[in-house]
Amino acid sequence: MSEKFDALIVGGGVGGCAIGALLAYNGYKVKLFDKNKIIGGRCTTYDYKGFKLDLGVHLFGVGPNGYLGDVLKRIEMPDAIKWVLSKDPRPLMNYCGEELIYSRKAMSQIAEKYAPGEFDKAMKFFADCLSIRKKQIRELYYTPFNEFLNQYTTNKIIHTLLSGIVGQYFCVLPEKASAGEFIRCFRQVASSRSSAYPIGGCIAIPQAYVDGIKKYGGEVQLDAKIKKIHVEDDRATGIELEDGSTYESDIIISNADIQNTVSNLVGEKYFPSDYVERVKNLTYAQYCLSIKVALDEKVTDQKLILYLPYEYSEIDRTTGVFAGEIPDKVGGMITSPTNYDSNLAPPGKQSIFFGTGCLPGETMEQYKKIGEKCLESLKTVFPTIEDHIEWYKTDTPTLVESYAGEYGNIIGVGQTVDQIHERRPSQITPIKGLYIVGAEAGGHGIGAELAANSAIELVDILLEKTIPAK
Ligand SMILES: Cc1cc2nc3c(=O)[nH]c(=O)nc-3n(C[C@H](O)[C@H](O)[C@H](O)COP(=O)(O)OP(=O)(O)OC[C@H]3O[C@@H](n4cnc5c(N)ncnc54)[C@H](O)[C@@H]3O)c2cc1C
Repeated sequence: MSEKFDALIVGGGVGGCAIGALLAYNGYKVKLFDKNKIIGGRCTTYDYKGFKLDLGVHLFGVGPNGYLGDVLKRIEMPDAIKWVLSKDPRPLMNYCGEELIYSRKAMSQIAEKYAPGEFDKAMKFFADCLSIRKKQIRELYYTPFNEFLNQYTTNKIIHTLLSGIVGQYFCVLPEKASAGEFIRCFRQVASSRSSAYPIGGCIAIPQAYVDGIKKYGGEVQLDAKIKKIHVEDDRATGIELEDGSTYESDIIISNADIQNTVSNLVGEKYFPSDYVERVKNLTYAQYCLSIKVALDEKVTDQKLILYLPYEYSEIDRTTGVFAGEIPDKVGGMITSPTNYDSNLAPPGKQSIFFGTGCLPGETMEQYKKIGEKCLESLKTVFPTIEDHIEWYKTDTPTLVESYAGEYGNIIGVGQTVDQIHERRPSQITPIKGLYIVGAEAGGHGIGAELAANSAIELVDILLEKTIPAK
């Protein structure tokens, strides 16, 4: 007979680990499985030539003061993640070679310099985003971001600059992004001023939740791929691993891709056809290519720079989505993880990442060319870097897919106007006892915070439905 648990969790991304910790804290006998040898899904850190490298180019929007921190507060481990704030030194924006502090005012000044008369409009946009009432935010959930911005200005430079923020938050195009979700996230980031990165690299976040699972009596098994989620009489009953072992539970929570969960792990025949259709038609966020550069010594104290090489640009360039073409200059986000935590590199050395958008399914040759362009961009921003490069490597959507599935997209189900707020897939599925968690269902926020918020919403749903043991 297979072992029985109160809840089984398929996948140890941020959402899976967070719900595991929250349920274990509330007295559930929990077991989490992940197919990978390391925890975290997209939000992970791997070892390479003596360096610890994040899979992504990560910065967490509101760090300790957001949903990632809320999970830890709820399980009474508030300090389990040590955060380093990104505001010292202040993040920069390199706009066409000009270095400015990355601030609302600087962006408005750029607008004024390159498009006289736009300063006031840009400042009014920012001011309204900060002061707009909650009721109006709700009304703007289904309004595309650029339609909302057009009410202030149609100037291409302002659209370019602000599309850069939308791209960083949601990795979807501004004509598809939700104005309401943008305003909500922008307010959280602006008011908390606590964008941050965890000591130990991105993996420190899911690892802290795993520590929580274990502390409260739960179990975690890595290198354990789930083959099937079993359903009987419209109820989820258990799971089967690829090695043939089985586990039973009345609650199965999938942190795997929602499409994969419905079509393969469970099977479409168990769901109503309109639900299957809806899930199949969901669209994902965009894709990212990042280069990880190892330097033999520290060349910059900067933690974060947004590099925009063009005054204004076609939108596919702005967001870095090349539509198959590689522009002369590639824009993107530059981070130096070792400026948050020097232990992520051998003593005295530095790591710098450059991330930009790209398409999935390109050839390795095409990805290599984009990587070379990213390196050129880095050399433009840091002219002295050339003499200090030990090596660099290019991480592609194919690598992300090998960790987290979903064709290697950056975030999960895209936060577009048709997939946001009440239009987002719910954590509750039509099958009793089967739930989805992570950046796939429910939630609000930026990247990993969206996944954590999905878990917080789900634990509240489950605690309402079942009698907590604690
Ligand atoms: C390049 C890149 C840069 C990013 N930058 C940022 C950033 O700067 N800031 C930010 O906040 N976010 C960023 N993100 C996004 C963020 O990392 C994700 O949105 C978030 O981590 C998704 O969490 P999730 O809970 O949906 O889990 P996922 O990451 O989707 O993990 C799902 C897990 O399920 C497991 N799994 C799947 N199928 C099975 C199975 N059959 N059996 C067992 N296990 C299974 C997988 O192995 C994986 O571990 C970035 C992502 C990428 C890829």
